[in-house]
Amino acid sequence: MENDQSFVEGDFSKSCSNKLKSGVEKTKKKTVKKKKKKKQEQKDEVTKISKSFSKLDINRRDVSKQRTPQRRSQLGKTPSSLSSIKDVAELISSGGVRNIIVMAGAGISTGSGIPDFRTPGTGLYDNLHKYKIPAPTAVFDRDYFNVNPKPFFELAKELYPSGKYRPNIVHYFVRCLHEKGLLLRMYTQNIDGLERLAGIPPSKLVEAHGTFSTASCTKCGKKCKGEVIKDKILKGVIPRCQLTPLCYGTIKPDIVFFGEDLPKRFYYYLKDFPSCDLLLVFGTSLQVEPFASLVDSARFTTPRLLLNMVKVGPFVKRGRRHDLAVTGDIMDSIQTFVDELGWDEFIKEVVDSNEKVLHVNDP
Ligand SMILES: [Zn+2]
Repeated sequence: MENDQSFVEGDFSKSCSNKLKSGVEKTKKKTVKKKKKKKQEQKDEVTKISKSFSKLDINRRDVSKQRTPQRRSQLGKTPSSLSSIKDVAELISSGGVRNIIVMAGAGISTGSGIPDFRTPGTGLYDNLHKYKIPAPTAVFDRDYFNVNPKPFFELAKELYPSGKYRPNIVHYFVRCLHEKGLLLRMYTQNIDGLERLAGIPPSKLVEAHGTFSTASCTKCGKKCKGEVIKDKILKGVIPRCQLTPLCYGTIKPDIVFFGEDLPKRFYYYLKDFPSCDLLLVFGTSLQVEPFASLVDSARFTTPRLLLNMVKVGPFVKRGRRHDLAVTGDIMDSIQTFVDELGWDEFIKEVVDSNEKVLHVNDP
């Protein structure tokens, strides 16, 4: 039984092995066929992919060609690509900004006839030769003032906000920002008082280099309103203290001299600048510290627009992605700004109503 069985088993195993062999061969053939098929499929796939890639490539090229203008117009609505005053105007019109800070220097007042401090040949410093002072800057030097206050008061007579100089479109533009509820604060280096004359409320102003609107005795330290000494300044008389009996100290308008502390209001910048969402820098050389450094107190993402004759400070090298500098006559640039905002009629109304008030107050 065992043999038979073994025979049977042997036969069986033979037939099995034959079957297996043929099966294996079949499988091999099938595998080869499959492999061939797979290879062909892979080839087809590669051809397909390469074709679709080339299509994609063409598409990509086409899309990129189409996207260029699209991208520009889309980015024009975001602060990241401000390329013109129009873009900034759109940003304001779209309601994208609510807290605008304006930083201003002497360049905004040249349009009102006040000479720029720092322009060679036409600047206020250059015109001080007639006062025979040791250096032009001595007129704002406290030690020199204590010895000889006359040159300062001569200058004060010229600069005193008496109505001789009128605010121009730049001052009125800032007033319009206030009227529209967009002005967080205006930081000005100017002492000509034209911001106040344009009707910008004192609460919205930081007169970083002081003001004629208040004055202090240089001896007893008592303060008074600028009005108290206005007549004397305009008549060329040095005002003496009558605030304290027998003091007779010189009363000086609260203009900040070299080395003197800045007004306390200057430190408003610590809370103002972090919440500023658009910084407008008008007509300043950004040379006098600490005022100049205010420009970098705004958040890194805050758009900054400089309108000035030339690029200055961080705008020389476009320090930040959201910076824009427009050079040239600032009055022209502001007119463009007004046009782009559609505020032409509005600013005319503001100017007309304010000029009536100024006319009534003329000396
Ligand atoms: Zn006094």
